[in-house]
Amino acid sequence: MANPFDLSGRVALVTGANTGLGQGIAVALAQAGADIVAVGRSAPTDTDTAVRAAGRRLLWVEATLDSIAPVGEIVRRAVVEFGAIDILVNNAGIIRRNDSLDFSEEDWDAVMDVNLKSVFFLAQAAARWWVANERGGKIVNIASMLSFQGGIRVPSYTASKSGVLGITRLLANEWASKGINVNAIAPGYFATNNTEALRNDEARNQSILERIPAGHWGKPSDLGGAAVFLSSAASDYVHGAVLPVDGGWLAR
Ligand code: NAP
Repeated sequence: MANPFDLSGRVALVTGANTGLGQGIAVALAQAGADIVAVGRSAPTDTDTAVRAAGRRLLWVEATLDSIAPVGEIVRRAVVEFGAIDILVNNAGIIRRNDSLDFSEEDWDAVMDVNLKSVFFLAQAAARWWVANERGGKIVNIASMLSFQGGIRVPSYTASKSGVLGITRLLANEWASKGINVNAIAPGYFATNNTEALRNDEARNQSILERIPAGHWGKPSDLGGAAVFLSSAASDYVHGAVLPVDGGWLAR
Protein backbone atom coordinates (compact mmCIF):
# COMPACT_ATOMS: atom_id res chain seq x y z
CA MET A 1 0.00 0.00 0.00
CA ALA A 2 1.32 3.48 -0.90
CA ASN A 3 2.40 5.58 2.08
CA PRO A 4 -0.35 8.25 2.48
CA PHE A 5 2.11 10.56 4.28
CA ASP A 6 4.62 10.54 1.40
CA LEU A 7 5.28 14.03 0.00
CA SER A 8 7.71 13.01 -2.75
CA GLY A 9 7.51 15.37 -5.71
CA ARG A 10 5.45 17.98 -3.80
CA VAL A 11 6.42 21.62 -3.39
CA ALA A 12 5.75 23.21 0.01
CA LEU A 13 5.83 26.96 0.49
CA VAL A 14 6.59 27.72 4.16
CA THR A 15 6.67 31.28 5.50
CA GLY A 16 9.15 32.11 8.25
CA ALA A 17 11.09 28.90 7.64
CA ASN A 18 14.48 30.28 8.74
CA THR A 19 13.93 29.60 12.44
CA GLY A 20 11.60 28.28 15.13
CA LEU A 21 8.43 26.42 14.24
CA GLY A 22 8.67 27.22 10.52
CA GLN A 23 12.09 25.61 10.42
CA GLY A 24 10.82 22.51 12.23
CA ILE A 25 7.91 22.24 9.79
CA ALA A 26 10.04 22.81 6.66
CA VAL A 27 12.54 20.14 7.71
CA ALA A 28 9.77 17.63 8.49
CA LEU A 29 8.10 18.25 5.12
CA ALA A 30 11.46 17.82 3.36
CA GLN A 31 12.11 14.58 5.25
CA ALA A 32 8.70 13.40 3.98
CA GLY A 33 9.84 14.17 0.42
CA ALA A 34 8.81 17.78 -0.37
CA ASP A 35 10.93 20.52 -1.92
CA ILE A 36 10.73 23.73 0.11
CA VAL A 37 10.08 27.32 -0.92
CA ALA A 38 11.16 29.27 2.16
CA VAL A 39 9.50 32.69 2.21
CA GLY A 40 10.83 35.31 4.59
CA ARG A 41 13.07 38.25 5.30
CA SER A 42 16.06 36.37 6.82
CA ALA A 43 18.23 33.89 4.93
CA PRO A 44 17.14 30.33 5.87
CA THR A 45 20.72 29.08 6.05
CA ASP A 46 20.34 26.35 8.68
CA THR A 47 17.04 25.20 7.19
CA ASP A 48 18.69 24.95 3.78
CA THR A 49 21.39 22.70 5.25
CA ALA A 50 18.82 20.42 6.88
CA VAL A 51 16.61 20.28 3.77
CA ARG A 52 19.60 19.37 1.61
CA ALA A 53 20.62 16.70 4.13
CA ALA A 54 17.15 15.21 3.55
CA GLY A 55 17.92 15.13 -0.18
CA ARG A 56 15.48 17.89 -1.13
CA ARG A 57 15.84 21.37 -2.67
CA LEU A 58 15.22 24.72 -0.96
CA LEU A 59 14.47 28.01 -2.71
CA TRP A 60 14.56 31.18 -0.61
CA VAL A 61 12.07 33.82 -1.75
CA GLU A 62 13.06 36.95 0.12
CA ALA A 63 9.95 38.82 1.23
CA THR A 64 8.60 40.77 4.18
CA LEU A 65 5.05 39.89 5.04
CA ASP A 66 4.02 43.04 6.88
CA SER A 67 2.37 44.05 3.61
CA ILE A 68 0.69 41.92 0.97
CA ALA A 69 2.65 43.57 -1.86
CA PRO A 70 4.96 40.54 -2.40
CA VAL A 71 2.20 37.91 -2.45
CA GLY A 72 1.84 37.63 -6.24
CA GLU A 73 5.60 37.52 -6.77
CA ILE A 74 6.01 34.78 -4.12
CA VAL A 75 3.66 32.44 -5.97
CA ARG A 76 5.16 33.36 -9.34
CA ARG A 77 8.75 32.63 -8.19
CA ALA A 78 7.76 29.29 -6.66
CA VAL A 79 6.03 28.20 -9.85
CA VAL A 80 8.81 29.44 -12.14
CA GLU A 81 11.59 27.77 -10.13
CA PHE A 82 9.89 24.58 -8.90
CA GLY A 83 7.01 24.22 -11.38
CA ALA A 84 4.11 24.21 -8.90
CA ILE A 85 2.89 24.80 -5.39
CA ASP A 86 1.19 21.91 -3.62
CA ILE A 87 1.30 23.00 0.03
CA LEU A 88 1.18 26.41 1.73
CA VAL A 89 2.16 26.66 5.40
CA ASN A 90 1.28 30.09 6.77
CA ASN A 91 3.69 30.18 9.70
CA ALA A 92 5.38 33.62 9.88
CA GLY A 93 4.11 35.59 12.83
CA ILE A 94 4.98 38.15 15.47
CA ILE A 95 3.80 39.09 18.95
CA ARG A 96 3.73 42.43 20.81
CA ARG A 97 3.21 42.52 24.58
CA ASN A 98 1.78 45.40 26.57
CA ASP A 99 -1.10 46.15 28.96
CA SER A 100 -4.29 46.69 26.98
CA LEU A 101 -4.68 50.11 28.65
CA ASP A 102 -1.42 51.20 27.00
CA PHE A 103 -1.55 49.17 23.78
CA SER A 104 -0.69 51.22 20.67
CA GLU A 105 -2.23 51.29 17.22
CA GLU A 106 1.21 50.47 15.79
CA ASP A 107 1.39 47.27 17.86
CA TRP A 108 -2.15 46.41 16.81
CA ASP A 109 -1.56 46.91 13.07
CA ALA A 110 1.89 45.31 12.92
CA VAL A 111 0.65 42.03 14.38
CA MET A 112 -2.60 41.93 12.43
CA ASP A 113 -0.79 42.60 9.14
CA VAL A 114 1.70 39.73 9.48
CA ASN A 115 -0.40 37.22 11.43
CA LEU A 116 -3.76 37.60 9.71
CA LYS A 117 -3.79 39.79 6.61
CA SER A 118 -0.81 38.11 4.92
CA VAL A 119 -2.20 34.70 5.89
CA PHE A 120 -5.47 35.38 4.09
CA PHE A 121 -3.94 36.91 0.97
CA LEU A 122 -1.26 34.24 0.59
CA ALA A 123 -3.98 31.61 0.88
CA GLN A 124 -5.98 33.48 -1.74
CA ALA A 125 -3.00 33.67 -4.11
CA ALA A 126 -2.25 29.95 -3.74
CA ALA A 127 -5.90 28.98 -4.16
CA ARG A 128 -6.24 31.17 -7.25
CA TRP A 129 -3.28 29.32 -8.77
CA TRP A 130 -4.77 25.93 -7.88
CA VAL A 131 -8.18 26.83 -9.29
CA ALA A 132 -6.67 28.31 -12.47
CA ASN A 133 -4.63 25.13 -12.96
CA GLU A 134 -7.52 22.80 -12.07
CA ARG A 135 -5.71 21.10 -9.20
CA GLY A 136 -6.11 20.82 -5.46
CA GLY A 137 -3.78 21.92 -2.69
CA LYS A 138 -3.14 21.96 1.04
CA ILE A 139 -3.12 25.00 3.31
CA VAL A 140 -1.88 24.68 6.88
CA ASN A 141 -2.28 27.81 9.00
CA ILE A 142 -0.45 28.20 12.29
CA ALA A 143 -2.95 29.13 14.98
CA SER A 144 -2.22 29.24 18.74
CA MET A 145 -3.64 28.45 22.16
CA LEU A 146 -4.84 32.06 21.88
CA SER A 147 -7.16 30.94 19.09
CA PHE A 148 -9.12 29.35 21.98
CA GLN A 149 -8.10 31.36 25.05
CA GLY A 150 -7.78 35.06 25.85
CA GLY A 151 -4.18 35.35 26.96
CA ILE A 152 -2.81 38.35 28.86
CA ARG A 153 -1.18 41.56 27.52
CA VAL A 154 -1.24 40.35 23.88
CA PRO A 155 -4.49 41.82 22.47
CA SER A 156 -3.49 42.02 18.81
CA TYR A 157 -1.91 38.56 18.93
CA THR A 158 -5.07 37.04 20.44
CA ALA A 159 -7.23 38.84 17.87
CA SER A 160 -5.01 37.68 15.02
CA LYS A 161 -4.84 34.03 16.12
CA SER A 162 -8.57 33.88 16.87
CA GLY A 163 -8.97 35.31 13.36
CA VAL A 164 -6.71 32.60 11.91
CA LEU A 165 -9.04 29.99 13.37
CA GLY A 166 -12.06 31.77 11.86
CA ILE A 167 -10.64 32.13 8.36
CA THR A 168 -9.36 28.53 8.42
CA ARG A 169 -12.97 27.43 8.83
CA LEU A 170 -14.32 29.97 6.35
CA LEU A 171 -11.82 29.03 3.64
CA ALA A 172 -12.44 25.33 4.25
CA ASN A 173 -16.16 25.94 3.67
CA GLU A 174 -15.50 27.78 0.42
CA TRP A 175 -12.72 25.63 -1.01
CA ALA A 176 -13.26 22.03 0.20
CA SER A 177 -15.33 21.28 -2.92
CA LYS A 178 -12.41 22.49 -5.06
CA GLY A 179 -10.02 19.90 -3.62
CA ILE A 180 -8.29 22.42 -1.40
CA ASN A 181 -7.81 21.39 2.23
CA VAL A 182 -7.57 24.30 4.66
CA ASN A 183 -6.65 23.31 8.21
CA ALA A 184 -4.64 24.67 11.11
CA ILE A 185 -2.20 23.54 13.76
CA ALA A 186 -2.51 25.16 17.18
CA PRO A 187 0.90 24.90 18.86
CA GLY A 188 1.04 25.08 22.63
CA TYR A 189 4.09 26.57 24.29
CA PHE A 190 7.25 26.05 22.21
CA ALA A 191 10.79 27.20 22.91
CA THR A 192 11.42 29.74 20.11
CA ASN A 193 12.24 33.46 19.80
CA ASN A 194 8.49 34.17 20.09
CA THR A 195 8.35 32.87 23.68
CA GLU A 196 11.78 34.00 24.90
CA ALA A 197 10.30 36.74 27.11
CA LEU A 198 7.97 34.23 28.78
CA ARG A 199 10.75 31.72 29.41
CA ASN A 200 12.99 34.44 30.85
CA ASP A 201 10.26 35.45 33.34
CA GLU A 202 10.78 32.88 36.09
CA ALA A 203 7.25 33.14 37.52
CA ARG A 204 5.52 32.89 34.11
CA ASN A 205 7.83 30.09 33.02
CA GLN A 206 7.01 28.11 36.16
CA SER A 207 3.25 28.64 35.91
CA ILE A 208 3.24 27.62 32.23
CA LEU A 209 5.28 24.49 32.91
CA GLU A 210 3.00 23.49 35.79
CA ARG A 211 0.02 23.52 33.43
CA ILE A 212 1.55 21.46 30.62
CA PRO A 213 0.72 17.78 31.25
CA ALA A 214 3.79 16.73 29.23
CA GLY A 215 5.88 18.78 31.69
CA HIS A 216 8.12 20.60 29.21
CA TRP A 217 8.10 23.22 26.46
CA GLY A 218 7.63 21.92 22.91
CA LYS A 219 10.50 21.69 20.41
CA PRO A 220 9.99 22.80 16.77
CA SER A 221 10.46 19.18 15.62
CA ASP A 222 7.41 18.21 17.73
CA LEU A 223 5.19 19.88 15.08
CA GLY A 224 6.56 17.79 12.21
CA GLY A 225 4.08 14.92 12.34
CA ALA A 226 1.03 17.20 12.41
CA ALA A 227 2.42 19.29 9.55
CA VAL A 228 3.14 16.24 7.38
CA PHE A 229 -0.31 14.81 8.12
CA LEU A 230 -2.16 18.01 7.15
CA SER A 231 0.04 18.41 4.02
CA SER A 232 -0.41 14.86 2.76
CA ALA A 233 -3.04 12.60 1.19
CA ALA A 234 -3.63 11.18 4.68
CA SER A 235 -5.75 14.27 5.43
CA ASP A 236 -7.66 14.48 2.14
CA TYR A 237 -11.06 14.36 3.92
CA VAL A 238 -9.98 16.73 6.74
CA HIS A 239 -11.31 20.27 6.23
CA GLY A 240 -11.49 23.22 8.62
CA ALA A 241 -9.88 21.31 11.49
CA VAL A 242 -7.56 22.75 14.10
CA LEU A 243 -5.09 20.26 15.51
CA PRO A 244 -3.63 21.25 18.88
CA VAL A 245 -0.03 20.14 19.43
CA ASP A 246 0.31 21.34 22.97
CA GLY A 247 1.63 18.68 25.35
CA GLY A 248 -1.93 18.44 26.67
CA TRP A 249 -2.37 22.14 27.60
CA LEU A 250 -5.97 22.39 26.34
CA ALA A 251 -6.97 19.20 28.13
CA ARG A 252 -6.32 20.87 31.51
P1 NAP B 1 9.91 32.94 15.75
O1 NAP B 1 11.03 32.03 16.09
O2 NAP B 1 9.93 34.35 16.21
O3 NAP B 1 9.71 32.88 14.17
C1 NAP B 1 8.82 33.75 13.52
C2 NAP B 1 9.06 33.67 12.03
O4 NAP B 1 8.23 34.63 11.35
C3 NAP B 1 10.51 34.04 11.67
O5 NAP B 1 10.90 33.28 10.56
C4 NAP B 1 10.36 35.49 11.29
O6 NAP B 1 11.40 35.97 10.47
C5 NAP B 1 9.05 35.44 10.55
N1 NAP B 1 8.52 36.79 10.40
C6 NAP B 1 8.09 37.62 11.37
N2 NAP B 1 7.71 38.79 10.85
C7 NAP B 1 7.90 38.71 9.51
C8 NAP B 1 7.69 39.59 8.42
N3 NAP B 1 7.21 40.83 8.59
N4 NAP B 1 7.99 39.17 7.17
C9 NAP B 1 8.49 37.92 6.98
N5 NAP B 1 8.71 37.04 7.97
C10 NAP B 1 8.41 37.42 9.22
O7 NAP B 1 8.56 32.38 16.33
P2 NAP B 1 7.87 30.94 16.25
O8 NAP B 1 7.49 30.59 17.63
O9 NAP B 1 8.63 30.01 15.44
O10 NAP B 1 6.52 31.36 15.52
C11 NAP B 1 6.08 30.78 14.31
C12 NAP B 1 4.57 30.83 14.28
O11 NAP B 1 4.07 30.00 15.32
C13 NAP B 1 3.99 32.21 14.52
O12 NAP B 1 2.84 32.40 13.71
C14 NAP B 1 3.62 32.16 15.99
O13 NAP B 1 2.61 33.07 16.32
C15 NAP B 1 3.14 30.74 16.09
N6 NAP B 1 3.08 30.17 17.44
C16 NAP B 1 4.20 30.04 18.20
C17 NAP B 1 4.09 29.46 19.46
C18 NAP B 1 5.27 29.26 20.35
O14 NAP B 1 5.08 28.81 21.50
N7 NAP B 1 6.49 29.54 19.93
C19 NAP B 1 2.86 29.04 19.93
C20 NAP B 1 1.75 29.20 19.12
C21 NAP B 1 1.87 29.76 17.87
P3 NAP B 1 12.71 36.66 11.15
O15 NAP B 1 13.52 35.54 11.73
O16 NAP B 1 13.35 37.34 10.00
O17 NAP B 1 12.19 37.60 12.20
